Amino acid sequence: MTATPNLLSTDGRLPLHNPLAPPAGTDDQATTVKCTTCYMCACRCGIRVHLREGENGPEVRYIDGNPDHPINKGVICAKGSSGIMKQVSPARLTQPLRRKPGSERGAGEFEPISWEETFAILTERLSRIRATDPKKFALFTGRDQMQALTGLFARQFGTPNYAAHGGFCSVNMAAGMIYSVGGSFWEFGGPDLDRAKLFVMIGTAEDHHSNPMKIALSAFKRRGGRFISINPVRTGYSAIADEWIPIKPGTDGALFMALMHELIKHDRIDRPFLQRFTNAPQLVVLDEGEREGLFAFDPDPAKGPPGDGRNPHNKLVWDTTSGQVMAAYPEGIADGRSPALTGTYTLADGTRVAPAFQLLSQQVAECTPEWAQAITGIAAGRIRALAVEIGDTALKQAFELPIAWTDAWGKTHPTTVGRPVAFHAMRGLAAHSNGFQTVRSLAVMMSLLGTIDAPGGFRHKAPYPRHIVPNYRAFNDPEQVKPNTPLNAAPLGFPASPEELAIHADGSPLRIDHAFSWEHPLSAHGMMHNVITNAVKADPYRLDTLMIFMANMAWNSTMNTMAVREMLNRRGDDGEYQIPFLVVCDAFQSEMVAYADLVLPDTTYLERHDVMSMLDRPISEFDGPVDSVRVPVVAPLGQCKPFQEVLIELASRLKFPAFTGAEGARKFKDYPDFVVNFQPQPGIGFLMGWRGEDGTEHLRGAPNPKQWEMYEKNGCVFQYHLREDQQYMRNWNQSYLDFAKEKGWRQKNDPVQLAIYSDVLQLFRLAAQGKTAGRQPPEHLRERISTYFDPLPFWYPPLESACSDLYAYPLNAITQRPMAMYHSWDSQNAWLRQIHSHNYLHVNPVTALAAGIADGGWCWVESRWGKVRCMVRHSEAVEPGTVWTWNAIGKASGAWQLDPGADESRKGFLLNHLISEELPFTDGDGKSAGTISNSDPITGQAGWYDVRVRIRPAEPEEPEETFPQVAAPPPAPGVLGKAQKVLTYFAGRKTR
Ligand code: SF4
Repeated sequence: MTATPNLLSTDGRLPLHNPLAPPAGTDDQATTVKCTTCYMCACRCGIRVHLREGENGPEVRYIDGNPDHPINKGVICAKGSSGIMKQVSPARLTQPLRRKPGSERGAGEFEPISWEETFAILTERLSRIRATDPKKFALFTGRDQMQALTGLFARQFGTPNYAAHGGFCSVNMAAGMIYSVGGSFWEFGGPDLDRAKLFVMIGTAEDHHSNPMKIALSAFKRRGGRFISINPVRTGYSAIADEWIPIKPGTDGALFMALMHELIKHDRIDRPFLQRFTNAPQLVVLDEGEREGLFAFDPDPAKGPPGDGRNPHNKLVWDTTSGQVMAAYPEGIADGRSPALTGTYTLADGTRVAPAFQLLSQQVAECTPEWAQAITGIAAGRIRALAVEIGDTALKQAFELPIAWTDAWGKTHPTTVGRPVAFHAMRGLAAHSNGFQTVRSLAVMMSLLGTIDAPGGFRHKAPYPRHIVPNYRAFNDPEQVKPNTPLNAAPLGFPASPEELAIHADGSPLRIDHAFSWEHPLSAHGMMHNVITNAVKADPYRLDTLMIFMANMAWNSTMNTMAVREMLNRRGDDGEYQIPFLVVCDAFQSEMVAYADLVLPDTTYLERHDVMSMLDRPISEFDGPVDSVRVPVVAPLGQCKPFQEVLIELASRLKFPAFTGAEGARKFKDYPDFVVNFQPQPGIGFLMGWRGEDGTEHLRGAPNPKQWEMYEKNGCVFQYHLREDQQYMRNWNQSYLDFAKEKGWRQKNDPVQLAIYSDVLQLFRLAAQGKTAGRQPPEHLRERISTYFDPLPFWYPPLESACSDLYAYPLNAITQRPMAMYHSWDSQNAWLRQIHSHNYLHVNPVTALAAGIADGGWCWVESRWGKVRCMVRHSEAVEPGTVWTWNAIGKASGAWQLDPGADESRKGFLLNHLISEELPFTDGDGKSAGTISNSDPITGQAGWYDVRVRIRPAEPEEPEETFPQVAAPPPAPGVLGKAQKVLTYFAGRKTR
């Protein structure tokens, strides 16, 4: 390889570091390069892995970005290039393990067993459960990227007790946006920084879209774009913002409500957009009764196009031109019509109605900037000025692209209108118990500005937008949990009414995590954070086997860490563990492994096949769908086996129908074979590129036996560019909707009207108020449902605030993911540990000095639930009422094969000890009703960022180490341990 000319700087000199040149001191001939996809975070950049022959086959020598990859275009971050050290982590597990008979859980005493014994144990146990009561098996997974497979496994097993990590990550972001605009930030959509002029980022530090976001921000700033960051803390992306607006955690919803107040008051809204593309003009029934708060509709099925998912297009509007009521579509938007957005009206049958927008205007009427100032800490004048800036940018700096498109009602728009204000938000909004309504208020505000799938605004990524509500119902029928029978629906989905909840006739939860119950009706991603607590309480029943994949539930992936560790070992009156059998699959000896009865050693991302699929979480771009794969670039270490292969093997041995052919023969040889040949619908598979028997069809086509090879030849990625007239306004763009249906991304081709007003939420509220004939919540939950299921966005204080003494605990405490690390995976990475080996509590100097805590001093942080001792760093980049730290750096002493005296355990700490997974609960009469999950009452999203704390200096005689200190168990048999030889190799010496 030689340096390419385009690397020369303008004066003709070579750059200091030439990323395309072979690493110094290597023999170029001995190096081979293989492309695959990074998984050092969820961003999924394309990488090139440079390999050199070692004693036991190819070894990773170097990792850089793939310049031809659409996501990162060659850019790589510190984490990505440090994947090499993940391969040789001393904490790597290498063989299956069984807890030694007679040893205690948590003691970490294991004996090695073969995979054949492992499969025999699992097959015997799981087939017994499946043949008797399948719900007694629960499968919960961490930050994996194969939920299409894990979900299928659970469904075929016949258990509803399945979820991935979304419930404790950002389901509020997903659900709040999807129930409002049909798509979301995250992998599903984002800001169009190529054309935006103003970018407002809220509650985001490091992201799921890390390198692409940094590339886009860099270009945006160079073009002169203005970047405002609203966040309690100025770190990460915010560090390069033109303006930082500090805000108190959990109050973003109040800011959005005040911004909507200002936008509506001063008419800085896109009225034609609201009239045509949202439900803002649709008439809502005002009269009390079972139709109260629902849309009035024309019962004639011939009126309007067919149903939009479960949300039919038969609503009514008031036409101000003719002064009469008419069908919203198509009459209400015909030329010459002008649907009313304000006022109240009376239908022919005497029903009083008002447009949804009128109700929104009333909802925000009291939400003045002064009201929001008292909640958010942002001056009223700044809120007013921000409203002017976003409104004027959207409307007065609008532009038109010469792209004609035709909407779902046959109108051809000669151009595509750009609304150049883009927003982006993530966990800072989502990880609060008021997050769903906060995210909804942001989505509705964006809709008022017309900046949905518009150039310069928020843009969808295929397969989004979905219907509102998405046409995926979660399994919900207790009668359908039957021995040896797959479920008749997937365990996860999007409920559209109380009738779709997963509950028993008495209203009690069907699932172990209580997802989709009256406690958290729209918990679309499940509630992993409550599984262990509920299973130990046998609430609503006792499990037999809990399988956990890639989640460190005994440390940084759980709230209330010390109590959860105790629960994992708790025994019932019968002397048996409350969770009788615990299976842990992980690539590393994390703190969780000690609690396993059976340990399955997983591979790293460099040792296995993986798919980033349109059936799951693809890596699509704004201009079209993109999917990608990982291929093994090195052989698995020891006996490590990909979890995907474990599931395929178990599914075949358990003879799940989808995995078994005629006369019980297994259908799929292995995971790659499954990926190529499994088709949920004809022509649709896990991968969309190079389909058809000869690989000449894309998006849809017959299975191609050479599909893996073709991905490998093409850098492990497939990208499809939509036609230009299909790239925008996709909620209503008929050409796109037809195309998306044809390719299997949607069931229907009808438009997706934005939900300014959510009649879905109102259905739950009506049930809680006893106004409907169908399912009703239990008495103690009626007021809760009635309060939070407001069909219009609103702000309320996080639930923890109601049960904490805000004077005793005056500070908000939050965590962030550091840019150099992703969860606990990287805080044991030898290179990345050189960036962060421990964390501080970052405190504004005013707050720290008032508490008598010096910069670098030790302090106690106390919440109502627990306390930690840690070191403080003064920082003016945090608002004075908030303290924060990096997450997942603190470790148990000696865990992950770090030295027992390592910084991670002596100076590193977890904020998790201060957070409870449950809160006390009182019913509508103020009577105690036990406890309830510390989560959003709508979606079940874990309220990680709600905790209230106080700080005080540690006493001089106290040890200068963090509290609590926990000792990790001994190394598991076969764990890689210190790898001096490998470290020497990477110091630049040749192995031969
Ligand atoms: S941003 Fe994430 S996926 Fe991309 S190179 Fe860095 S760690 Fe890998």
